Amino acid sequence: MKVTLEKDVMENNDRAAEFNRKLFQKTGTLVINIMSSPGAGKTTILEKTVRALSGQYRISVIEGDIATERDADRIRSAGTRAVQIATEGECHLDPRMIAKVLPEIDLDETDILFIENVGNLVCPSEFDLGQTHKVVVLSTPEGNDKIPKYPLMFHVTELALINKTDLIPYVPFDLDQARKDLQAINPESRLMPVSARSGQGFDDWLNWIKEARQACLKP
Ligand code: MG
Ligand code: ZN
Repeated sequence: MKVTLEKDVMENNDRAAEFNRKLFQKTGTLVINIMSSPGAGKTTILEKTVRALSGQYRISVIEGDIATERDADRIRSAGTRAVQIATEGECHLDPRMIAKVLPEIDLDETDILFIENVGNLVCPSEFDLGQTHKVVVLSTPEGNDKIPKYPLMFHVTELALINKTDLIPYVPFDLDQARKDLQAINPESRLMPVSARSGQGFDDWLNWIKEARQACLKP
């Protein structure tokens, strides 16, 4: 499918998000928008995820960063197609930026598209990219207080991956309190402890993706 952009899509965020969503639905592509603060482990999680799933699914990745092509290179080294968006100062991705790179991605040949947002717990939460699901990553060294401090991010996401659980013995992170705070902000959201480093909990994450992909195929 050849993607062509209309002028109003490039001028209006809501239209661009809708434009993206329709394309994703047409091709049955599962699109996951992953957000977190810098250093929470989004790229490491994605490297491990694409290594685990690329035998079963056709995967593409869009990497959002303020500058550099580094994360896209990491994903390519893990064996998956990746397109880098360098926002040149913008601290979030918006749906027009996504629409602009979609011609570089063959959605017909993509079962799962991961979008790694710019590292920032604030404004990425305000932009609908047209994705199927929004996921937030919070790493244990950041502390569980980030959940009540950045409520919008935890309100708009369906899954909170608590990454770097292997560090729990060394950092003050209260998993029970995190669960309570998440429940208070968004009772629908699921908290999932993982460690991209040790692999702990990673099967839960992979199963969540597989179920989400299955749901995309249902009419
Ligand atoms: Mg990254
Ligand atoms: Zn921003």
